[in-house]
Amino acid sequence: MEYEIVIGLEVHAELSTKSKIYCSCTTEFGGEENTHCCPICTGMPGVLPVLNKKVVEYAVRAGLATNCTIADYSKQDRKNYFYPDLPKAYQISQYDFPLCKNGYIDIETDGKTKRVGITRIHIEEDAGKLMHDEWDTGTLVDYNRCGVPLIEIVGEPDLRSAEEARAYMEKLRSILQFIGVSDCKMQEGSLRADVNLSVRPVGQKELGTRTEMKNLNSFRSIVRAVEAEAQRQIREIESGGTVVQETRRWDDERGLSVSMRSKEEAHDYRYFPEPDLVPIVLDKEWVEGIRASLPELPDARKKRYVREFGLPEYDAEILTSSKVLSDFFDDAVKQSSNAKAVSNWIMGDLMRILKEKGMEVENIPFPAGYLARLVGLIEKGTISGTIAKKVFEKMFLSGKGPETIVKEEGLEVVSDEGALTAVVRKVLDNNPQSVADYRKGKEKALGFLVGQAMRETKGKADPQLINKLLKEAMDKA
Ligand SMILES: [Zn+2]
Repeated sequence: MEYEIVIGLEVHAELSTKSKIYCSCTTEFGGEENTHCCPICTGMPGVLPVLNKKVVEYAVRAGLATNCTIADYSKQDRKNYFYPDLPKAYQISQYDFPLCKNGYIDIETDGKTKRVGITRIHIEEDAGKLMHDEWDTGTLVDYNRCGVPLIEIVGEPDLRSAEEARAYMEKLRSILQFIGVSDCKMQEGSLRADVNLSVRPVGQKELGTRTEMKNLNSFRSIVRAVEAEAQRQIREIESGGTVVQETRRWDDERGLSVSMRSKEEAHDYRYFPEPDLVPIVLDKEWVEGIRASLPELPDARKKRYVREFGLPEYDAEILTSSKVLSDFFDDAVKQSSNAKAVSNWIMGDLMRILKEKGMEVENIPFPAGYLARLVGLIEKGTISGTIAKKVFEKMFLSGKGPETIVKEEGLEVVSDEGALTAVVRKVLDNNPQSVADYRKGKEKALGFLVGQAMRETKGKADPQLINKLLKEAMDKA
């Protein structure tokens, strides 16, 4: 039997406001444990929350950038549950009147575009962090993260594979970065996803029973979790069992998910309107002002790259998958006349080295202008394409400018006829057979001799000049 996988993601993004959602404590990541806290975010009795206006603005930005309808009336609710990282024993969230509804984003997989629905986006506060590993005799709690503003982006169950889930997360991350509402650092937990997944026989209309895996914080773990959980559910069904609706924990090290608890329903949380906060009523003009301030979004930028620079769709997609990378490209193109060449260097050598070093695009160790200047050196004929690859690698490792590297290492193209004539003489003397072949009309022999001369000069000779000198010498004799 063939199965279809049905996936919906609930994505949490920490907003990059300066202060927390209901108090003026800093949202900065890290810091000494329990120092970014006050009586409000640690839930002392009698304190009152005050909503940070910037949180609403950022959530509206995210809603507009994902084609949502912005609610002119929404409210905040208490979601009650007990857990040691939640000192109030309730989280202020939004229940039945979220800030944003009915949006979508477009994703690309295998060259095809697919529209994925966004059910809603609401604001809420983050919880603290438990640390189980540092202490043998107990668990420690750090409340620094309590009250850091979050948006939860609830997606429709429109995704059908691990690849689509990955593409969706990447597109969301890219959009949130472009509009500047979250740094989306997955390794720091500022972007994380809950994966809702079920399987059903191909052709079946009704959905299978779903499980939820919480807090996946890397693209890799999302892909692996989707694949493993789908297989687990299929095995369960094929062996005559049934899938249990539950929350599972993905264990990335062991590559499997384990049952945590039976899935809770909304009524388990005893939601009720937050009595300490008034409803959020948005002024239309204010919302339109935010819409007008939105920057060029990834899809628009991608189209511009294809239209203006003639880049292939695929390349434009990769370049706009991250704001940092896209800005790097834009910056380099501004200083170069050859956008295509700049793109090729990024898509080829830059991506390769980053991958080899296990580095992110945020860590590119030289400014975009260096790449523009490297492209310029090739165009001017100062260095050959082969040498440029060497220079690029050195630029990456040392952070030095391309001209400095070329000068220090003596890598300029040798186009001095006098110097090259001696090289040509030597190559002809060493390869009498090839010379004879050439004279018999074997054009291939010339290519071989050019190769020898290039080797002799360690790739620095001007190949066209070498070609000309070799021909002249052999035709003359
Ligand atoms: Zn506080």
